[in-house]
Amino acid sequence: MSITPLMPVYGRCDVRPVRGDHCHLIGEDGQRYLDFAAGIAVNALGHSHPGLTGAIARQAQTLMHVSNLYGSPQGEHLAQRLVDLTFADTVFFTNSGAEAVECAIKTARAYHQHGGNPDRFELITFRNAFHGRTMGTISASNQEKLHSGFHPLLPGFRYVEFDNLEEARAAVGPQTAGFLVEPIQGEGGVRMASQQFMEGLRALCDEHDLILALDEVQCGVGRVGTFYAYEHYGVEPDVLASAKGLGGGFPIGACLATERAARGMTVGTHGSTYGGNPLGMAAAEAVLDVVADPGFLEGVRAKGERLRGKLEQFIGNYPDLFEEVRGMGLMIGLKLRTEPREFVAHLREMHHALTVSGSDNIVRIVPPLVIDDSHIDEFMEKLSAAAASYQPAEVPQ
Ligand SMILES: *Cc1c(COP(=O)(O)O)cnc(C)c1O
Repeated sequence: MSITPLMPVYGRCDVRPVRGDHCHLIGEDGQRYLDFAAGIAVNALGHSHPGLTGAIARQAQTLMHVSNLYGSPQGEHLAQRLVDLTFADTVFFTNSGAEAVECAIKTARAYHQHGGNPDRFELITFRNAFHGRTMGTISASNQEKLHSGFHPLLPGFRYVEFDNLEEARAAVGPQTAGFLVEPIQGEGGVRMASQQFMEGLRALCDEHDLILALDEVQCGVGRVGTFYAYEHYGVEPDVLASAKGLGGGFPIGACLATERAARGMTVGTHGSTYGGNPLGMAAAEAVLDVVADPGFLEGVRAKGERLRGKLEQFIGNYPDLFEEVRGMGLMIGLKLRTEPREFVAHLREMHHALTVSGSDNIVRIVPPLVIDDSHIDEFMEKLSAAAASYQPAEVPQ
């Protein structure tokens, strides 16, 4: 037998973390790494945060799981908190980002089917989007690498160019249910939607009675310096999928919706065994205790600007290696002139700083939101050393 016990669907690197210490990870061999990947924008409070680990430990001892057949004081409390913080009137809790997006897709379809428009089932989505790995969420993306081997896809999605309002408008037809869009594409290469694009989608939704569903699984929960990214644009969605940072490492997601958008989500229409269980709720409450504070969010913006300023200055020293810095808050993309994976590996293996590659030659820099100046300085030192010693196998054009 040659298949590994762990199904070999990931190309895993040599780092084998066994312990976390605030903004660092410690490997099996004792090596320390500066973690500016944060479990791909998940560990918002870093590792071993006492507020988060304490809340989980206390809740695990008190009550871990009950069925959604029972009343949920824990779920009601967290849902109310999210409602108070956002555009939403109601929340469905999930265990992952893909499930939160699935709920968003179902909510958009049910809005029309419940409203007597069964023909309006199609969501317009955007090229290079990433919405997860379930059949529904891979079907929502145009990326061939997600589809290969898994056909047939689910019908009901139509792909147009990201940040192109004219294409989005032209795609609206009698079958359109709404739009599903990441305000800032993560995996797609830290690409930000323009103000005009976001406002234009909102206007199209208002004009044609469509659902604007945002996938803020990666860019939400303080990552970009506002609680959700839509606040930056001043454009409110009808539905929003959240996850990643929401549990700070505990698997939880949420689908937020207005009362109007959720009109089809009635008793018996949707569910989840684990979704919203008391343990998950306690984890998310502990994250919100830190992240939902306006002063904390202001700090994320300030740290983002500081890191970004340093990166912009730094890349001037290596014009053949780096092209640009982009992003917002602590969701930063460093664009290389070549394929980024080799550089990410070099930075990790030789200089012990962790980042994540993305499409469009991007190195994603998504540190814990709790970093301080010392971590920014440590990162810049490691990055400088990595750039100075980097000898790409691939020759830059
Ligand atoms: C990670 C991600 C998802 C999928 O989340 P999972 O928890 O892996 O299911 C969906 N959308 C976006 C934008 C993501 O970054």
